[in-house]
Amino acid sequence: MIKLYADYHTHTIYSHGKGTIMDNVLAAKEKGLTEIAITDHGIRHFRFGVKRDDLKKMRREIDVINDGNTGVKVLLGMECNIISSEGDVDVDEEILKQLDILLVGYHLMVKPKKLSDVGNIYGRNLMAKMLSLYKEETKEANTKAIIKAIHKYKIDIITHPGARIPIDTTRVAAEAAKAGTAMEINSAAGYLKVEQAIAAAKQGAKFAIDSDAHIPGNVGNFTLGIKIAEAAGITSEQIINAVK
Ligand SMILES: [Zn+2]
Ligand SMILES: [Zn+2]
Repeated sequence: MIKLYADYHTHTIYSHGKGTIMDNVLAAKEKGLTEIAITDHGIRHFRFGVKRDDLKKMRREIDVINDGNTGVKVLLGMECNIISSEGDVDVDEEILKQLDILLVGYHLMVKPKKLSDVGNIYGRNLMAKMLSLYKEETKEANTKAIIKAIHKYKIDIITHPGARIPIDTTRVAAEAAKAGTAMEINSAAGYLKVEQAIAAAKQGAKFAIDSDAHIPGNVGNFTLGIKIAEAAGITSEQIINAVK
């Protein structure tokens, strides 16, 4: 049976979650977790992105909580966005040095790096959603961009791979395995799906099962993620936040 001790993907009021950092920490404690990451949306996410100035505040808040006695270790993270077809992500040195954990995923409502990336990634993905015409070409571009990102940055977890934006799971998982990046089984989005998780496991990839909670009540809510992992035959040894 899979038992998890950490939730590495949760949101707070610093993006568009409903709870404070402390609300999420107390919810984690109530669920019996000993570790939680606060991973609000990257700065170039439209409307919901973390404000650069807030990051210092978050860091201080987390340091204070970690000095206390909640019994839950708190990590400051960010769920960053792919912002170009070259695999650029919306983090820089200044942000990275404040983070304990880096999550990267595709989100559609993102300000691209330069105007041409609007067409390259986001325009194409929006169009592929409407027409089936560009599907393969789009999937190929998405796959290449995320693989470049995996090699450009030290990414801990790829969030909800294949949700909203199609990717070649096998190729991404193979590079993730080499780089030590975990593929997420997201309990809110239901991605990776079972077949994708099987394909990723074959490549030797590690997994993270997360809640992606946007309200404190959903922190540590892993039901769907565990169901997917078990259906895919994935064991605790392959899951970075599982009790071994
Ligand atoms: Zn969100
Ligand atoms: Zn999220």
